[in-house]
Amino acid sequence: MPELPEVETVVRGLRDTIIGQTIRRVQVQAPPASTVVAESLKPATFVSLLRGRRILEVSRRGKNILIQLSGNLTLWVHLKMTGHFFYRPISDPVDKHDLVLFDFESTGRGKNSGFHLRFNDYRRFGRLRLYPDDELFEQEGLASLGPEPLDISADDFVMMCRRRPRMFKPALLDQTFIAGLGNIYADESLYSARIHPRRLTDSPSRRKLVELHGHIWKLLEKAIRLMGASVDSYVGVNGQTGSFQKYLRAYNNEGNPCSFCGRKIVREKIGSRSAHFCPRCQRL
Ligand SMILES: [Zn+2]
Repeated sequence: MPELPEVETVVRGLRDTIIGQTIRRVQVQAPPASTVVAESLKPATFVSLLRGRRILEVSRRGKNILIQLSGNLTLWVHLKMTGHFFYRPISDPVDKHDLVLFDFESTGRGKNSGFHLRFNDYRRFGRLRLYPDDELFEQEGLASLGPEPLDISADDFVMMCRRRPRMFKPALLDQTFIAGLGNIYADESLYSARIHPRRLTDSPSRRKLVELHGHIWKLLEKAIRLMGASVDSYVGVNGQTGSFQKYLRAYNNEGNPCSFCGRKIVREKIGSRSAHFCPRCQRL
């Protein structure tokens, strides 16, 4: 699943391509594509509501993409497992997983002429939702999100960890605790800080928690700079792969030697998710 750096890369790709453009037509190719319209906007449909609106801004909150439209409406997108936005020449053959096509008013010139946006989703868990701006942050999935890991201070992070003791791995995955981390960056940051994924969040020293905060920050910054980690199917808006996967030391490294001590990285189920860690460097 794309996590904060991958979603941020998509957001930046969308900013470069669709801001300022006006939607001329939207085609939902595959009916099961999860498009949702706020109750207050019905009976207007997803397609009719988008027509004629201008793209004002694209931003990110956790793993959510927020495309702000003219007329106080926001297209709220979650890529889930395999959702992608592709900015492609209209003439490229449409793939069966291109579920929603967004055509823009022609400007007749410039690099954007002859291109459109596609929401492609092989597994079809992705969601596209339309809400009036003033209802958006009341919605489940946005209302309860925890702080952004790149914004939160070390002091606040320490306080959050100590407030409610729980195992680190599930805590870091919990979007209401901190927004945007998933398996990749949770495993990598715990590995870098040498904290066992089952350890309780209030057990390390203050110094250790500050160190973990710093590793989360550094890993996310580096991954954004490298345009994300292309594990599974992730690629950016122009189809480009990220390169942070080359720097993964715990995630997807089961059986490989630990870069600190040489012992084999293990993978263990914790709750419903698995965690990758070094049993020697990350002691319980
Ligand atoms: Zn080790």
